[in-house]
Amino acid sequence: MLKVAFLGLGSIGRPMARRIKEAGFPLAVWNRTPDHVATFAKDLGVQLSKTPGDAIKDTDIVAICLSTSADVEQVLDAGVIGSIKAGAVVLDLTSGDPATSKRIAAKVAAKKVGFIDAPVSGGVKGAEAGTLTVMCGGDAKDLERAKPVIAAFGQKVVHCGPVGAGDAVKAMNQALLALTIWGTGEALVALSKLGVSPSVALEVINASSGRSNASMNLFPERVLTRAFPRTFRLALMDKDARIAAQIARDERVPAPLTQLVADLCTLARRELGEDADHVEAVRVIERWAGQDIR
Ligand code: NDP
Repeated sequence: MLKVAFLGLGSIGRPMARRIKEAGFPLAVWNRTPDHVATFAKDLGVQLSKTPGDAIKDTDIVAICLSTSADVEQVLDAGVIGSIKAGAVVLDLTSGDPATSKRIAAKVAAKKVGFIDAPVSGGVKGAEAGTLTVMCGGDAKDLERAKPVIAAFGQKVVHCGPVGAGDAVKAMNQALLALTIWGTGEALVALSKLGVSPSVALEVINASSGRSNASMNLFPERVLTRAFPRTFRLALMDKDARIAAQIARDERVPAPLTQLVADLCTLARRELGEDADHVEAVRVIERWAGQDIR
């Protein structure tokens, strides 16, 4: 059985770590702020490691899920890389940026350690159910080694290309998510102001060509109910959309919509704060219009 370390028990890290443990892999866990995860670790019956170095000792797969690639690089640079055993694979589940992932992969390769960027999609619910989509970049051999662990939480696993390819696909997916949230928000605020019930409007849109995951799931479950649960921070969607815009610029692809939605995410993040959920971005449109989606 592969021995696994899991670093970063945030909103989505926790259910992924739980599924790895429940699949029977010997698991060591670490989180920067132990207080955030003390109850989780107790419930799961795992000991929290004091340092990332303690958690990764003798492990075959080092799974990491932090906010950004810069955070991952910082943790690995703080004396961790040298302690990962040769032949192990770093499985970076963070929605990261390709340039930093390539730099990290080169650093760990020097210690004969593999690296896979493996961001996920499907949200906290998907992580709990083990139905995440996992988009991977890196060497096929390293991916094969990590696959049994990925299978604990992922349903669709796609090898997208070399290191950074998983990050790139994820960033573009997130820009599309942000675009559909923003666009659906504008449509429903305008329709509400006009006097059309948003649930009636969604009934039509979801049987028509304007539908999306936002219209079919996020708006009915989170906006119409005014529940706005906090599962994926707007700050992280802003980070993802910025990565997408940067990729387009690096590749010299004119991408005004991607840039615009990245700027809108940054603006909404400033207005709503670091803890707001991504779907709460529609609150900004509601404020501008003086009309809630009701
Ligand atoms: P959270 O904000 O809930 O958690 C972030 C985690 O990263 C925490 O464990 C935090 O530790 C840790 N962390 C942040 N910065 C550092 C640092 N410099 N050093 C060490 N640890 C650090 O984020 P999520 O769990 O929601 O997201 C994690 C990643 O997964 C992100 O890249 C996100 O974009 C992606 N993702 C999230 C989804 C979701 O639905 N939530 C869906 C798909 C992808 P601490 O507890 O100490 O703050």
